[in-house]
Amino acid sequence: MTVEARHSDMRGSAPTSSSSRQEGPGGLWDSVKKAAFVIGSGILFLAAFGNSLTWHLQRFWGASGDFWQKLWTKVYLAFEDHDAALFFFGTMTFPTIAFWGLNIMLMMVDSTGKPSFITRYRIQMDKNNPVDPAKLRHAVKSVMFNYACISGPMVLAAYCLMNLRRDPCGPELPTFHWALLELAVCAIVEEVMFYYSHRLFHHPSLYKHYHKQHHEWTAPIGVVAIYAHPLEHVFSNTLPVMAGPIILGSHLSTTTLWYCLALVSTSISHCGYHLPFLPSPEFHDFHHLKFNQCFGVFGVLDRLHGTDTKFRQTKQYERHVLLTSLTPLNESIPDEPKKGQ
Ligand SMILES: [Zn+2]
Ligand SMILES: [Zn+2]
Repeated sequence: MTVEARHSDMRGSAPTSSSSRQEGPGGLWDSVKKAAFVIGSGILFLAAFGNSLTWHLQRFWGASGDFWQKLWTKVYLAFEDHDAALFFFGTMTFPTIAFWGLNIMLMMVDSTGKPSFITRYRIQMDKNNPVDPAKLRHAVKSVMFNYACISGPMVLAAYCLMNLRRDPCGPELPTFHWALLELAVCAIVEEVMFYYSHRLFHHPSLYKHYHKQHHEWTAPIGVVAIYAHPLEHVFSNTLPVMAGPIILGSHLSTTTLWYCLALVSTSISHCGYHLPFLPSPEFHDFHHLKFNQCFGVFGVLDRLHGTDTKFRQTKQYERHVLLTSLTPLNESIPDEPKKGQ
């Protein structure tokens, strides 16, 4: 029901012909509502997933009600007095599995152009079909460097900062509801920090030295989410994600879950396929296509600063919805025929 509500909401703010598009006074509010919808439905999905996973564990594995706490206590005791190692292990292992697991699958699709039930959802139909192997190899090397040599040490720095206030590897897990609330705050912190740092990297004096590398991919693929100059990777990719848990003094469990979500969502926003029942990647894909539009994550700050005005006059904007059917949006909302055709 909420998905449909968003559909009608999006349609309501995106009139059918580009010439008739007018920006109403509620434009920013619309944008806030859409961001709240994305964050809210993500949280609801996680709550439902968490509850059903716990239910299955209890039902089929005979786990007791405090299964997660017991599991955490075991891990906590195994790493007794080695909190830094525990923090590093947790925040690197699970996000690594999430990021590389997803992106290895996506790279197989990009490299082979198969299966067609995925590639039919490609946003820029004529691009990366298949992806240039040399360009991909170069990107993967750079991504591996950023991941291991920059994100890794920064995770340890985050631990030291967090530990000044409170040990993030405390013996008690936060409640699930508290963790969800923290995730929502982390998403808002990321939106603000990513938007402004990203816009700064588009300043002509910084762009050509630092951000141009990320924009070599005008039609992005999942793994290039962190294909960037190391300085950009520090300030625009990593700090906005790490800031939330540092500000909140989050537990290792929440921090790890947040890092996983952040890496998966940035991979989806770069993946180049607008797949059913996944967040729409149209917004950031358009940023790669046009460079000077759509700088944020959720689009609230783009609406506030008017950096999405061109985007909102495009077919891509009309397609920027949660796809709830199996028909690709390129087919249900086709491009205008080119002049002369
Ligand atoms: Zn990007
Ligand atoms: Zn950019």
